Amino acid sequence: MTVAELRGVGVRFPGGVRALDGIDLVVPTGGIMGLVGESGSGKTTLCRVLAGLMPPDAGQIEVAGREGAGFRRAVQMLLQDAAGSLSPRMRVRRLLMEPILIHGLPRAAAWAEMLALLHRLGLSGDVLDRYPHQLSGGQARRVAVARALILRPALLIADEPTAGLDVSVQGELLNLLLDLQRERGMTCLVASHNLHVVQRISSRMAVMYLGQIVEHGATATLFAAPAHPYTAALLSATPVLDPARRRTRIVLHGDLPSPVSPPSGCRFHTRCFQAQPRCAMEAPQLRPVAGREVRCHFPLTGPAGSATPSGPASS
Ligand code: SF4
Repeated sequence: MTVAELRGVGVRFPGGVRALDGIDLVVPTGGIMGLVGESGSGKTTLCRVLAGLMPPDAGQIEVAGREGAGFRRAVQMLLQDAAGSLSPRMRVRRLLMEPILIHGLPRAAAWAEMLALLHRLGLSGDVLDRYPHQLSGGQARRVAVARALILRPALLIADEPTAGLDVSVQGELLNLLLDLQRERGMTCLVASHNLHVVQRISSRMAVMYLGQIVEHGATATLFAAPAHPYTAALLSATPVLDPARRRTRIVLHGDLPSPVSPPSGCRFHTRCFQAQPRCAMEAPQLRPVAGREVRCHFPLTGPAGSATPSGPASS
């Protein structure tokens, strides 16, 4: 069973920026999928097109069996600045009822759902009459979560949900997301540059580089033995407390190339320690390799941390 499917999805911004290019992704029903990659890799754009907030220039998107405007109710998005996304001119009562009114759903059932959600999120009824600026940061974030859940979406997308939070609040929010996902049987897609977050909460993950998915599979599989050199580099840069599980650090040289004119062939070849002449000439396709999908002509094999930098673009 799949809750969402993207086929050949592309997004081009004014100025020729190719934010997404040929995205093929299947999101299975249930569980949490993580989406990782450097800033500028296209994570936020992917979240926005999947949430129906931005139309793709190419390809098809299907959520809960529907395409186009038909899936708007089935998918909700928790924005990076969740608290800041609440309209300052609306009281919480109105903020929570607005999605119900927009979709023309029965108010009585919505009212009961709203009270149940407030209770579940540890918010008292007092908050209903407050404006966002009268809420604490934690309360405002919970109201944003309630607003995203009130339509009982099949898919909840959270873009950098822990950004800007201190570590204890991060843990609290992640536990809440995990609990809500299980209780409600929904599917979550969580975009984060924080690999610890993705490892902790997701069962599957997709890695993005310069507008493309370069590796996709079970989180445990990718963490145990990344097959794409970019995934290996990302994981090697993540601090690990246990010395026995530390990886050899792979340093990527240079910045992310411009998405206006991405490198020929494999987009990662200008920074890849594994690059061969073929990589600059022929674009690799996403293909099954050792239990996951990888976009690479020369995927890594072997146990975690066995990737050995071999080219001049590594150290
Ligand atoms: Fe590196 Fe070549 Fe694989 Fe691209 S195709 S990731 S350049 S080895």
